[in-house]
Amino acid sequence: MTALKPIIAICGTTGVGKSNLAVDIAVQLAQAGRRKWDSAKIINADAMQVYTGMDIITNKLPVSERQGIEHALMDFKYPSEQYVVGQWVKDALHAVNDAHDKNQIPIVVGGTSYWIQHLLFPDRLAKDINSELDDGPPSPVLKHPALSTDLARSIESLPLDLMQLLNSLPDPAPSADADPEGALQLFNLLNTLDATMAARWHWRDTRKVLRSLRIIQESGQRPSDLIREQARQVLKPRFRTLCFWVYAKPEILKLRLDQRIDKMLEQGLLAEVRALQALSTDSALSDAEKPESSDYTFGIYQTIGYKEFHKYLSLNNPTKDDFLEAVNSMKTSTRQYAKRQTSWLRNKLLPILYAANESDTDFDHTTPSTVTYLLDGTDLDKSWATKVRGPAVHITNAFLDSKSLPDPMSLSDVAKEVLKVEHKNTDPIAVLNDRRKIICPVCTVDPARPFMVEEGKEWQMHQKSRFHKRRAYKPLTAAEIEEQKLRGRQKKQHISDSNVEHLQSMVE
Ligand SMILES: [Zn+2]
Repeated sequence: MTALKPIIAICGTTGVGKSNLAVDIAVQLAQAGRRKWDSAKIINADAMQVYTGMDIITNKLPVSERQGIEHALMDFKYPSEQYVVGQWVKDALHAVNDAHDKNQIPIVVGGTSYWIQHLLFPDRLAKDINSELDDGPPSPVLKHPALSTDLARSIESLPLDLMQLLNSLPDPAPSADADPEGALQLFNLLNTLDATMAARWHWRDTRKVLRSLRIIQESGQRPSDLIREQARQVLKPRFRTLCFWVYAKPEILKLRLDQRIDKMLEQGLLAEVRALQALSTDSALSDAEKPESSDYTFGIYQTIGYKEFHKYLSLNNPTKDDFLEAVNSMKTSTRQYAKRQTSWLRNKLLPILYAANESDTDFDHTTPSTVTYLLDGTDLDKSWATKVRGPAVHITNAFLDSKSLPDPMSLSDVAKEVLKVEHKNTDPIAVLNDRRKIICPVCTVDPARPFMVEEGKEWQMHQKSRFHKRRAYKPLTAAEIEEQKLRGRQKKQHISDSNVEHLQSMVE
């Protein structure tokens, strides 16, 4: 196996100085006089900055601050053109290979983290570990032609009624209220074929139970096996990756983003919105001239600020208040965007980066396949050199020279806090075994409708609940149980009612 070639990825929310850091690293590399990797090429991974012009609204790093460093995949699409992740990955791979050929380090930088994720990890374009358990149509990648022999044996030994059920799965899933027996039978079928998967669902959640069974039917594999298998595959990075997450504490970031919008307005944000408006109406008139994929709800028209000021500029007699409303609405959207970006990084990208390293069998402390550092950019002006640029340059040099790297947690308290949280979610098997539902024998009155509680905290709380204690203290008599069964079936009283009751009893 040939050694993976290096790449640097810089991610983070909007307004933390990612683009400046990329330039800082590139400049330093050019000055370092290394024989191998003597310079850098910056590759844009911001979905809005691919568009030509509109530099203010898309928040491009001014050319004067780029220090002559090449910025690829920036400024090359028409405002209304659609450009999606698959196309970008293809173009970015081309740019990366080109950089490597020229002895340059590719530095991928941008706020569109899922683009970066799909560049770094191949083959799972629409997938990641965390989404494996989500709802949605079974993915074509799950379709294996062959039935696993182990599963085949389990299917052969199914009792007749379950066998028949598997051969004619209901569509749609039965309602647990209207058909508790059907729901429980469906659950029992899954439990027999894939107990690990079944343990994740409440028997009442027939939609999820059915989906797991469909996967068995279509793939010939157990869903839990597929998750394990997929988790192994997702972890092979394309490159030897050094990832920097430039981070700013939310309360500071909020102020900074607000100020940035005020500055964008001073710099001519409104003129750009007007130009975009004109472009969309012009092109609407001359269909022949507009790019094939024109759609004025896509492309740059999704950028924050367009929608907000488009509305304002379309008013006949806009007032000062209308203007302030647009400004505030842009500020709110920007903050929400930053929040979504952080959540993506923590919940999606980080676990994959970590998992890649943990599954790396060649791992040694000088050449891990992926390393991730969080840089504290909270004080952008005061401590950029000491907290962001300095550590980044130091780590980059160690990474390229295969020298020992500092512990990511040791960089700052913020790093320790933000990076640590996600570490526990990295093991897909743990994710698979997480949040199992267990039956409370005390609260189960009718065995045909087991009372299920999630293990862990919920189970502990349940045991302390008044609802559970009442049952434990005074078990129902046989006659009462019969009566409960009857009443339950008649009134369709069900577990979720009991859950509400027991939640209420805990709040009291
Ligand atoms: Zn109980």
